[in-house]
Amino acid sequence: MCGIVGFHGPERVVGDMIIGLTALQHRGQDAAGIATFDGDAFHLHKGQGLVNDVFRPKNVKKLTGNTGIGHVRYTTQGANDSDLAQPFTTSYPFGLAMVHNGNVINFRDVAKLLHEKYHVLPKTTNDLELIMYTFASELRVKDLDRISVIDIFDAVETTQELVKGAYATVTIIAGHGLLAFTDPLGIRPLVMGRRDTPEGPVYAFASESTCFDYLDFEFVENVGPGQAIFIDQNFQIHRKNQPALPKAFCVFEQIYFAREDSTINGRLVARERVRLGKILARKVVDAGLKPDMVIDVPSSGYFAASGLAEAIGVPYRRAMVKNNHMGRSFIVPTQAGREDVVKKKLNPIKAFVEGKKVAVVDDSIVRGTTSRRIVRLLREAGAAEVYFISSAPPIVSPCIYGIDMAMSTELIAANYTEEEICSYIEADKVIYQDLRDLEDLFAEERGHGGSCFACFTGKYPTGDVTRYLRHVQEERQSHRIVDKVPSVSAKAPLPTEH
Ligand code: SF4
Repeated sequence: MCGIVGFHGPERVVGDMIIGLTALQHRGQDAAGIATFDGDAFHLHKGQGLVNDVFRPKNVKKLTGNTGIGHVRYTTQGANDSDLAQPFTTSYPFGLAMVHNGNVINFRDVAKLLHEKYHVLPKTTNDLELIMYTFASELRVKDLDRISVIDIFDAVETTQELVKGAYATVTIIAGHGLLAFTDPLGIRPLVMGRRDTPEGPVYAFASESTCFDYLDFEFVENVGPGQAIFIDQNFQIHRKNQPALPKAFCVFEQIYFAREDSTINGRLVARERVRLGKILARKVVDAGLKPDMVIDVPSSGYFAASGLAEAIGVPYRRAMVKNNHMGRSFIVPTQAGREDVVKKKLNPIKAFVEGKKVAVVDDSIVRGTTSRRIVRLLREAGAAEVYFISSAPPIVSPCIYGIDMAMSTELIAANYTEEEICSYIEADKVIYQDLRDLEDLFAEERGHGGSCFACFTGKYPTGDVTRYLRHVQEERQSHRIVDKVPSVSAKAPLPTEH
């Protein structure tokens, strides 16, 4: 999961870009980068860290130009080092700068093809290079003096045929304009916005619509599955839509990844999360649970928790306080590291939970270690009973489309029953979102061709991915970042006092 932006306007764009990237900071905190084009040359600055750390006034000053692309990185493919930070630029066959969000799953095939057919060797392990050089190589076979919009869209189409996986991309084509396109299934999000100024319109692409709220842009449209949108130097918009093909938009964007104030496919994320909580009420009631209060794991559990509380008629309380200066726990690469982060990050409010039956809502249960730590924190604060409620269904398969959640061996729901998970995380009861209910909630998306539910079903929309899964497993093992699900029988004893 990364965040991308692209801006094209009549004036310098870097100021807007930094605000836009900051609004996407939740999508990646490992690195940030911006490339601008001023009519003669690219200007590039990137580095590891948060947007505000990477972009200092002296760096920003150099980023001149009316066209720009930017990226915030969350490491999935390749190591976390600043050489892999995006954007990437190339002068082959002429100036291109590109950013992407997603993951290429046939990178060996694409790398081989690039080498054998076009004699191009990618310099890094970042899969963006594969997309960029495939696109560049396809452009190269055109008449470079007369590159037309049709040539650009043809190169996009061939790239989409050759490169498998999930990707939303934005590219500066030097001297020609700004191009956005997605993979044929539209797995990762990309939206387009516009702001009118006295000098003319400014167009923008972004991973989430929340960027546009900060910048007074109007939402124009989603970049649909397989669609390409090109804005030329005269700010004319050209579109290439793919014929009706299945769509597989990532449903986890609605559950967890996207910001609550973003609108995805016409749906406000916050409202969908409240709905997820309300739907969970049936399972809570059926299980005979009567919590005294509903609390959330801040902050992504809040909207589902408030929906659940409303539906079962008990108070919602913010009973855990989060230290916002710690990173997201599930992206810390080791189990010990993750548990340590949870402990430092969350502090329960003892006066609220002491002696109470508490239903705690989180967006999901991945490995179970974070959930167990939360249950322990609540018990240590005096909770009488703890019911752990997941607004996502059990995660049984790894995401291969740009979310580094874990492999199957690490996913607790892929290896244990609900009762065993409850026992492992030391809760009094575990309730998961029902997969069918989740599918029904996003029936509208299904009506348009479908959402991706692969991490809950193991049915990957890009087809057979066995070879890719094997490769990732080997890579994770060689980097020693595979955490086996801890043995349920080896769990620590329950606290003796409640
Ligand atoms: S596998 Fe899960 S997280 Fe990955 S794209 Fe599909 S729904 Fe999203």
